[in-house]
Amino acid sequence: MYSIIGGGIGGLTTALAFEKLGIEYQLFEKAEQLIPVGSGILLPPNSLQVFEWLGILDDVSLCGSVMKQITLTKPDMTPLFDYAQEDVKEMFGFYAISIHRWELQNVLLKKIPTHKIHLGKSLDTFKQIKEKVHLTFLDGTKIETDFLLGADGIQSNIRKQLFPKSKTRYSGQTCWRGICNYEDLAEEYNYRGIEMWGEQARFGITKIEENTFYWFAVVLSPQNQKDVPNTITDILLKTFANFHPVVGKLIGATHEEKIIRSDLNDVKPMPYWYKGNICLLGDAAHATTPNMGQGGAQAIEDAYYLAKAICQESKSHAFSVFQQNRSKKVNLIVRQSLLMGIIGHWKYFVWLRNFILTYTPSSIFKIRWRSIYTLKNYESTIN
Ligand SMILES: Cc1cc2nc3c(=O)[nH]c(=O)nc-3n(C[C@H](O)[C@H](O)[C@H](O)COP(=O)(O)OP(=O)(O)OC[C@H]3O[C@@H](n4cnc5c(N)ncnc54)[C@H](O)[C@@H]3O)c2cc1C
Repeated sequence: MYSIIGGGIGGLTTALAFEKLGIEYQLFEKAEQLIPVGSGILLPPNSLQVFEWLGILDDVSLCGSVMKQITLTKPDMTPLFDYAQEDVKEMFGFYAISIHRWELQNVLLKKIPTHKIHLGKSLDTFKQIKEKVHLTFLDGTKIETDFLLGADGIQSNIRKQLFPKSKTRYSGQTCWRGICNYEDLAEEYNYRGIEMWGEQARFGITKIEENTFYWFAVVLSPQNQKDVPNTITDILLKTFANFHPVVGKLIGATHEEKIIRSDLNDVKPMPYWYKGNICLLGDAAHATTPNMGQGGAQAIEDAYYLAKAICQESKSHAFSVFQQNRSKKVNLIVRQSLLMGIIGHWKYFVWLRNFILTYTPSSIFKIRWRSIYTLKNYESTIN
């Protein structure tokens, strides 16, 4: 029996992958209820291939909006870099999808038998004793399991206990995310992911469903700052006053109490994600800054590779094979994403950055993106 701790994107996708391959599992989530919270999320083609394998791609597609173009611009929306996703569609069978995070979790949840999900169960401590892992939850209950999987996010309790020297790193950037209904936005914003890079501030927009847009605003900030209620909209409007007018319109159309602020952190790459019969996955193992829109996608890929390794390898080798298959790609994404965030917030040499982005042949970016979107040994049924 595998016990998955955490019912986020990684934990739920792992449960579904185990369901598909007939691996015995149960999932424990600390939240009492899984309710509609959160913001938008971009699902790139690597995550969609896993969903295709799981047979849920149509359900996910129905809830989101396709992204046919990725555009990086100056604050006034003058394009610096434009990547039409036609070749991605040709190669993988689909475009990236933007979706409300809750809609995604809901699709995943509906496919998992309810008796295998235990809500209101916050893992407190665990102990490996011989072949078993003994788990103690905050409510005082205890269980014994054969394998423990830590899908408990960037602040993973399991990682901290298993690898006390592991570290999260603050990128120096904080991010506000919002979702708003907006009807009068020009056609050019449909089916496009746009990110505007200014001096030390970035703003991104993508449609997630008809007349509904997800936006994010990133600035440099000391860590752990708290917003004063009823000031956020004004602060954001001031910070992004010199950006294209659409930015102000979207911020203004968002209910302030629904704007979410998160510091952007990652996990310093670790030599091991597993020890004995315990293994980490998703953000618990390798959280990345969100600058490449790949954190959730990497958790989703983990589910695919972990389930396959458990089926194909001996029990004692499965976790090491899983990590071998994953860590090179993930560590590169963590590094490049961090670098992208730094460059995106340059104070000086902005002209040089913009020059490079405008004149670097797009084929160079495309090669890199295609390699990130590719899953080893995966054959799409759509192509
Ligand atoms: C601002 C921002 C924007 C992002 N945008 C994107 C994007 O566009 N595309 C993308 O692919 N990724 C994006 N990401 C990254 C993405 O959100 C994460 O990589 C993804 O959520 C990781 O999934 P996970 O399941 O590993 O962790 P989480 O989603 O954090 O889930 C962890 C779960 O574990 C539960 N839990 C924690 N501790 C315990 C415990 N002790 N006992 C039981 N349960 C526990 C939590 O309640 C939670 O449900 C973004 C991240 C941020 C911060």
